Amino acid sequence: MELFRLSAGQAAGGIKSREFSAEEYVCQLLERIKKVEPKVNAFVTVNSEEALEQARALDKKIRDGQDAGALAGVALSIKDNICVKGLRTTCASKMLESYVPPYDATVVRRLKQAGAIIIGKVNLDEFAMGSTTEFSRHGPTRNPWDISRVPGGSSGGSAASVAALECAASLGSDTGGSVRCPASFCSVVGLKPTYGLVSRYGLVSYANSLEQVGPVGRTVEDVAAVMNVIAGTDEHDHTTAAVGARPVYSAGHDGGRQQQQQLRVGLVKEFVEGADSAVAKIIHSAMDTLAKQDCRCEETSLGAVKYALASYYTIAMAEASSNLARYDNVRYGFDDLNPEGYEWNSYFAKARSNFGEEVKRRIIVGSYVLSSGYYGKYYLKAQQVRSILRKELKSLFKHYDVLIGPTMPILPFKIGEKIEDDPLKMYLVDIDTVVANLAGNPAISVPAGFAAAAAAGDGGGLPVGLQMMADEFQEQKMLDAAFLFEGAAKVQRSPEL
Ligand code: GLN
Repeated sequence: MELFRLSAGQAAGGIKSREFSAEEYVCQLLERIKKVEPKVNAFVTVNSEEALEQARALDKKIRDGQDAGALAGVALSIKDNICVKGLRTTCASKMLESYVPPYDATVVRRLKQAGAIIIGKVNLDEFAMGSTTEFSRHGPTRNPWDISRVPGGSSGGSAASVAALECAASLGSDTGGSVRCPASFCSVVGLKPTYGLVSRYGLVSYANSLEQVGPVGRTVEDVAAVMNVIAGTDEHDHTTAAVGARPVYSAGHDGGRQQQQQLRVGLVKEFVEGADSAVAKIIHSAMDTLAKQDCRCEETSLGAVKYALASYYTIAMAEASSNLARYDNVRYGFDDLNPEGYEWNSYFAKARSNFGEEVKRRIIVGSYVLSSGYYGKYYLKAQQVRSILRKELKSLFKHYDVLIGPTMPILPFKIGEKIEDDPLKMYLVDIDTVVANLAGNPAISVPAGFAAAAAAGDGGGLPVGLQMMADEFQEQKMLDAAFLFEGAAKVQRSPEL
């Protein structure tokens, strides 16, 4: 039996009922990782020994008749900007190349308590800044559907490892689409929770006011199962909302959908208008699929979308410039600096020249928009746009349960294609995802189909994701809609590797 193919739910079920052991399951995944990593390059660190130890301990617990937890034995990969005690957390940066956190992020602690096994740390754009996983010190991760293409980013390692059957699920972080973009490009499910629903304690900050940790899985049900474990108030993160320690979500035939009336779905026309025709076609047929499932579907408009990217990049870079000030090779660093002396300016300049190009660009632009002469012109304006967008969305959610559109306006592109000449080209692909981060709403990307790229030679086609967005803390409604769509559209398959 190919245990590495199992969903998180199936793996936990099989391990608990002793159909197979957690050790057998983890062994198969480690074999799988060995086989496909040379092609995919999703992992920064494979946690082989500890994962096997954890699996054996779990098997013993089950033999002894003890409760093994909701995610018993399920193997997860963790984005390399989320702290796992004792495992290197590099943020794909030279600045943290030897940083080993002495503590678990709250989300990781909760996963471990639920019986999950951390199989390794996965690749990202440096400090989560990017949409392709190309800006990494560990080299680019490749899209399992076509290894000449990007997997999306910045949680590219998370989505690629799940799509390539190297683990059942993963945790990524989503500041401006970083969970949903790679989920869409790799044809897996990725969820960005409402701001404040999931603890950020132990997530290395990029832009605090925008980001959340979010799960990636191959099914909506698995993503809901991980949410059940990681969501909830955390005393270590005072930006978590008072939702209780463990809100409960479900996705499945016993989900909240039965009590629900007809789902009201709004297709945001601005999201579709800007998309490639191949992508737009799939999104229109996704709307037909939902209509056939008795959803009330119609087109709607979200005018502030046109200002969203400018607002997002201004705020994200401003926060990044402040967050990244702590990396000075004194408190965190890499040691091999060999300074000519310890004069403050030259030492810090030398140390901080070790950031990658993209990170440096953001620190510079971020400092500029916060500088006293330009603060009003850029940062303040960006915040004003943010409030307008929030208001517009709030009023739309009086009429709709979910708003839909493409997650990404284009198909996964070739490695090197977007970063070669103009960084702005890469920023543009985030147009549909940043809205949820600016407003704080939850959003999910669900596989919607495959489309052939304009240039032939892409075999079975490239993944397209459908994005669904809901009102704040309406994750259950969103999961209901996503589950319904997933069941009706039936697009899930596995890449050949
Ligand atoms: N691509 C976006 C950026 O570079 C989003 C990144 C993220 O969500 N971490 O800022």
